[in-house]
Amino acid sequence: MSNVKDSVCKLCRRENMKLFLKGDRCFSDKCAFERRPYPPGQHGQSRLKFSEFALQLREKQKTKRYYGVSEKQFHKYFVEAARSKELTGTALLKFLETRLDNVVYSLGFANSRREARQVVKHNHILVNGKRTNIPSIIVRKGDVVEVASTSREQVRIQSAVQSVARRSVPAWLEADHAAFKGTVKDLPNREEISVVSEENMVVEYYSR
Ligand code: SF4
Repeated sequence: MSNVKDSVCKLCRRENMKLFLKGDRCFSDKCAFERRPYPPGQHGQSRLKFSEFALQLREKQKTKRYYGVSEKQFHKYFVEAARSKELTGTALLKFLETRLDNVVYSLGFANSRREARQVVKHNHILVNGKRTNIPSIIVRKGDVVEVASTSREQVRIQSAVQSVARRSVPAWLEADHAAFKGTVKDLPNREEISVVSEENMVVEYYSR
């Protein structure tokens, strides 16, 4: 089990940023990235020179891992983003940010995106009053996302709601934690998306 925990934290060290994959632990002094903020492995602390391609790859991996989506899903978002009228990088981040699992996490109904995905898959979430168990659904302006009344006593959901004060709810969402409910006030601007990512490099990676 400890190997599993370590391997998740290695992703943060590999990407040189906190990906917040482990809920409470990420905000504590047990965070592996806080203690060892350099890549894992024998050459972790060496100053390596990276090629342009390697830098683009790292940005792609970092963004993908932050949202916890598969390569196939990530590429699909890129293709859709490239077809949109917006800047491709911004459109890509908007797709990722407005996935239902990310919204459930951002509203504070789960301790991590990974947990949010499970909460959705296990039928604990309603969108506009209807149960949905598809984490990749893209929310729209005006959508109401809530925890099902029969699921509000779940320990992990209670724990998430109680610890949500440690991270702020993005301005494009409105949360009512007492009612276990949130509203998509608007779609996010790039400035309201918190991932620290050079999305242009992700676009360049796929445009090679
Ligand atoms: Fe591990 Fe979370 Fe820290 Fe990343 S941010 S190293 S997942 S504890």
